[in-house]
Amino acid sequence: MALVYLFFGAIKVGEGRVREKVPVASPFLLLISGGIAEVQARSRLRIAWSNCSGRCVLVAIAFALCTFISSPAFSAVVLQYHHVSDDMPESTSIAPRLFAQHLQLIETLKLSVWSLPRLVAALRSKETIPDNVVVITFDDAYDSIYKHAYPELRKRSWPFTVFVATDPIEKAIAGFMSWQQLKKMRSHGATIANHTQSHTHLVRQKKSEKNRDWIARVKQEIEGAQQLIETETGQRGRYFAYPYGETLPEIERLVLEMSFAGFGQHSGALDSRYSLANLPRFPMNNRYGQLDELKTKLQSLPMPILSTIPQARIISPNGMNRGIELLLEVSGKELNLLNCFLSGHGKLKTRVSPEGDHVRIRAEGVADLIPGRNRINCTLPAKDSQPVRYYWASHVWMTKTRDQQWYEEP
Ligand SMILES: [Zn+2]
Repeated sequence: MALVYLFFGAIKVGEGRVREKVPVASPFLLLISGGIAEVQARSRLRIAWSNCSGRCVLVAIAFALCTFISSPAFSAVVLQYHHVSDDMPESTSIAPRLFAQHLQLIETLKLSVWSLPRLVAALRSKETIPDNVVVITFDDAYDSIYKHAYPELRKRSWPFTVFVATDPIEKAIAGFMSWQQLKKMRSHGATIANHTQSHTHLVRQKKSEKNRDWIARVKQEIEGAQQLIETETGQRGRYFAYPYGETLPEIERLVLEMSFAGFGQHSGALDSRYSLANLPRFPMNNRYGQLDELKTKLQSLPMPILSTIPQARIISPNGMNRGIELLLEVSGKELNLLNCFLSGHGKLKTRVSPEGDHVRIRAEGVADLIPGRNRINCTLPAKDSQPVRYYWASHVWMTKTRDQQWYEEP
């Protein structure tokens, strides 16, 4: 919980040092600057190359030059809400009044509100996503969404997505929406998407289960929910959110094999360099969704994580005693402003070394982790942005108890 406060403290300290330049308009200046915008332009050029044969060389060069001349940044941000309510659990709720202010801020910032299908289609085709795209999502289909969020979104004709775990809807459990309500929202711009049948912890393979049986169970959770969603709402798109944001490579492979795009609960912007297996979303609640923080998140920039140490996603409390390492796909001249924070440990003391278009970050070992989901968040101010924008990367490790038991949900 202290993470965000420490992070924003760091932003305030860093501001004076990074507020220095307006976006660069000259391709020549960019070429000699060697900064982050150049890396982004190179990434775009790579995309153009990958989609073109040799005869497209001139087109690719022209595209790259246009990229240099226009905005240096491009990104999409996906917001993740649960309850929009004054009286639900603090960790997963945002007050209706604050939610309305979120939409107002999105308007004020002149962001483009895209549907999730539109974003996924752009990522699949490796299109360059224009700058400042935002996608609004809700997990679990709580009835407060229908009551408080839907009217505000409908007023603006904005698309949004509800990730539905189908068991509570089928059982008509109090506090959840009905199929009729979901269907009605679908007719007014909502995408009804998959969040399993039972909202189980997919990563928790039972002791009695062989690997094959575990994956078959996970597949049934996803396929069973999908069939119900299609039957009840007519929604056929394949979009999936991992319950609790917990996933493993085996599950991600399955999700991709089943032609889904997967979404997690780790912070960060995204672009077409990201895998569709586990895309980031910014979790929103009253604490992490205050307007100044939201503004920073809405304007954040993508910084993919290429590898991590510890490599395993399920680790024991002493799993980080021997250190942490991340390889990030970003570079720039002000790497000394890169900050990483780990749940419960605050700001990490890091050694940062550039490796071409990448940055390797090493942190010394940290004391034992608290069982639960432990997140690292790293940010780097974008050198040429005004007002300052932040590259943002996040990764989740799941930490079992000392005796190898799973943690309880709060
Ligand atoms: Zn959920």
